[in-house]
Amino acid sequence: MAEKLVIIGSGPAGWTCAIYAARANLNPVVYEGAISEDNRLLGTLPLGQLNLTTEVENFPGFPEGIMGPDLMIRMRQQAERFGTRIMTEDIESVDVTRRPFVLKDTAGTTIESHALVIATGASANYLGLDSESKYKNFGVSACAVCDGALPRFRNKPLIVVGGGDSACEEGSYLTKFASVVHLVHRRDTLNRASPIMARRLLDNPKVKPHWNSAVEEVLGETVQAHGGAVLSMNGVRVRNLTTNETKTIEAAGMFVAIGHTPNTRFLGRQVETDSKGFLVLKDPHRTTTSVEGVFAAGDVADPIYRQAITAAGMGCKAALDAERWLAAKGVH
Ligand code: NAP
Repeated sequence: MAEKLVIIGSGPAGWTCAIYAARANLNPVVYEGAISEDNRLLGTLPLGQLNLTTEVENFPGFPEGIMGPDLMIRMRQQAERFGTRIMTEDIESVDVTRRPFVLKDTAGTTIESHALVIATGASANYLGLDSESKYKNFGVSACAVCDGALPRFRNKPLIVVGGGDSACEEGSYLTKFASVVHLVHRRDTLNRASPIMARRLLDNPKVKPHWNSAVEEVLGETVQAHGGAVLSMNGVRVRNLTTNETKTIEAAGMFVAIGHTPNTRFLGRQVETDSKGFLVLKDPHRTTTSVEGVFAAGDVADPIYRQAITAAGMGCKAALDAERWLAAKGVH
């Protein structure tokens, strides 16, 4: 028998959707993703991007902060408490041309569902350096709003890589905490960014641009902290792409802001996306997509805010949208 609602994705959007849907007796199934080496490399393991971060200080309800993985485990437990069924597999393909929709998972199981919520998130793009991977969470981050205020970055020189709105936003945000923000960009202008955001960044006296430059290596050391030896980044080596000269910039952190890639490949272009691959929401304030009965929530459909709390809010909306749509169809 077909499910009423399958939710694909296990970040804040997926779990919030599941909590609301389960409490509304939709008996939802969450596909949280498979625990596989491929997913580890892609940053798409269960529990999403928050499971890859350290402390979360801006999620309401946790005045002392909470570790990202703890927050996600709590959301998962809350969804389970109301009867959500959880599958630790990826959805490999969907067919939304048929009703009910037909999904295939990585265990080879075929599932049918009347409604679908896509909450598969987006993966931050990284430069792809081995040294960058090594210092992830030890100075390297792709989210200034998540990590910028951590003590390790306070009053220290920091680096932002990129030249679009994200780099401008992250760089401007980091000036609140950093002693200096080094902007490393491979061009000599911020022509991808909106002029107002570019101006705000470059007008800030704490910002030092390094034009026509690429990070070649992240540098660091092992330090004693919290009673043990931990990695700690302390700078980067950059190459000037015009002169070919290299130099070292000392910094306690490097924030990579070179775009995100929404996780939509399994949809096979059956649901409309924008030019960057984000799912397009069709109605103002709603989570409706180009396919009736398919709803989207969280970073997979959000090129702008990309916060845990906004994703959770969208997950709630998707559950309510799905419930109302199913009721209108006489399924619920
Ligand atoms: P983006 O506009 O695609 O810009 C990415 C930047 O990273 C570009 O400057 C690009 O350089 C650089 N880059 C890409 N790959 C690189 C690599 N491998 N090495 C070094 N540099 C690399 O991405 P975004 O800044 O994340 O913005 C995405 C969308 O979100 C945009 O539509 C933006 O307007 C929106 N956004 C809006 C806000 C806001 O309004 N508050 C905030 C953030 C984002 P090149 O120019 O050389 O390609």
